[in-house]
Amino acid sequence: MLETLVVVLLVALIVTGAKLAGHHRALRSVREAIDHRQPFLRKDAPGASGREWDRFCVTANELIEQISALEKTQTSQLTQLNVTLGSLKEAVLVVDHHNHIMLANNSLQDIFPAATQAIDERLEVVLHSVEFLNYVEAVRNGEAQPHQEIEFAELNETRWVEVTGTTIPALDSSNGQWVLFVLHDVTRQKALERVRKEFVANVSHELRTPLAVIKGYIETLVEGHQEMDPIDRQRFLGTIQRHTDRLNSLLEDLLTLSRLESVNPGLERESIELRPHIAGILEDYRSRPHAEDHVIVDDLDPAIDRLLVDPLKLNQVLSNLLDNALKYTPPGTCIKVIGHLRAGEVEIRVSDNGPGIPSGDLPHIFERFYRVEKGRSREKGGTGLGLSIVKHIVQLHGGQVLAKSKPGEGVTFVLSFPLSPPH
Ligand code: ADP
Repeated sequence: MLETLVVVLLVALIVTGAKLAGHHRALRSVREAIDHRQPFLRKDAPGASGREWDRFCVTANELIEQISALEKTQTSQLTQLNVTLGSLKEAVLVVDHHNHIMLANNSLQDIFPAATQAIDERLEVVLHSVEFLNYVEAVRNGEAQPHQEIEFAELNETRWVEVTGTTIPALDSSNGQWVLFVLHDVTRQKALERVRKEFVANVSHELRTPLAVIKGYIETLVEGHQEMDPIDRQRFLGTIQRHTDRLNSLLEDLLTLSRLESVNPGLERESIELRPHIAGILEDYRSRPHAEDHVIVDDLDPAIDRLLVDPLKLNQVLSNLLDNALKYTPPGTCIKVIGHLRAGEVEIRVSDNGPGIPSGDLPHIFERFYRVEKGRSREKGGTGLGLSIVKHIVQLHGGQVLAKSKPGEGVTFVLSFPLSPPH
C-alpha cells in the first residue's frame, strides 16, 4: 500500500516537474520573441498548452507587432529629422534629461571639428563650456534668455556661438523632457567686432597726442604771444606745424586704407613698362635731400616687360617701402630694388642692410598701427599704416607680399604680382 502511494507521488512529482520545465521553456521562448520583436508560434513554446496559453500567445504577438511598428515609425521619423537637420547651416543638438546627446546634425562638426562622435556621449565630453552647461539647466528650468552668446574653448582656439534652447517632449518612451539647441557660429563676427573696436581705439589714441600738443601750444600762444620771446614763438609754431603734418599724414593714410578696403577700391589698371617705371621712381628718390646719405641701387631683369597694374598705387607701394628703408636705417645703408620674372609673375624685392626687424615683430608688421619701436616711428613721422597699405594694394592686384629679416642684416620685402591678374 505504502509502496503504491510512493509510486503515485513520484509519478505526480515527475509529471509536475515536466510541466514546470515545459512552462519555463515556453516563457523563455516568449521572452526571446519579445527581445527579437518576432511573433512566436505555438510550436516555439514547447511544453505550453491550453486555451489560456493560446490567448496569451495571440495577445503577446499583437503587442510585439505594435512595438515593432512604433519603433519603425520612430526610427524613420529620426532618420527624416536627421536628413532635414543635416541640410541646415546651424548646428542642432538634442540632449536628454541626463545630458546625453540624442541627436546632432553635421553642422555641429563644422563649428566644433573635434565633435566627431557626439551621439550618446555626455554633453560636457563633447562641448567644453561651463557657461553652456549652466544655460542647458536654465533652459530646463524655464529661466533661460531666448538667445545667449557663449564662449567655447576648442583645440587651442575660442569659438563664439549664439545658442537658442528650448525644451521638447522626449522622443523615447521616458515621458521626460529633452532640450533642443540651435547653435550659430558668430566667431567671425566677434573677431570683426574686436578688430573694429581696436581700430577705433587706435585711431583715437593716434589723434589724441598731436591734438593735445597743438591745443596746448595754441593756448600758450593765445594767452602770451605779445610778451613771448620770438625764438620761443617760432619754436612753438614749428611744433604745431609738425604735429599738424602728423595729423594730416594720419588722416591721409586712414582715407587711403578705407578706400582700399571699400567695395570699390578704385583700381585703375594699365599695361605699363615696368622697368622704366620703377627706374623713374628710384631716380626721383635718389635726388631727394633726405636720401643723399643712402645708396639706392636697382637690378631689374631685362626679361620683365609690361605689367597690368594701377601705376599710382604701385608708386605708393614702392614709396612706402623706400620711405621706411630711409627712415629706419642709418646713413650709408644700401637700398636695393631687384626685379625678376618668375613663373607667371613678376617678383620685386626691396631690401636694405639696416638694423632689420626682430623675428617676434615680423608676423605683425603688416597689421594696422603696428610699430616695432613706437617712439621712433612717431618721431620719424610714421603712422603705423604704411605696410598695411602696401599689403592691401598688392593683394588687390592678386599678388602677395612678405617680409624677411635677420636682425642686424636688414629687411627684404618680397612683392609678387601675377602677370595675368584676376578681374
Ligand atoms: P610706420 O608709419 O611706423 O613706418 P609701417 O607700417 O610703414 O609704419 O611700418 C611698420 C613698422 O615696421 C615700422 O614702425 C618699423 O618699426 C618697421 N619697419 C618697416 N620697414 C622697416 C625697415 N626697412 N627697417 C626696419 N624696420 C622697419
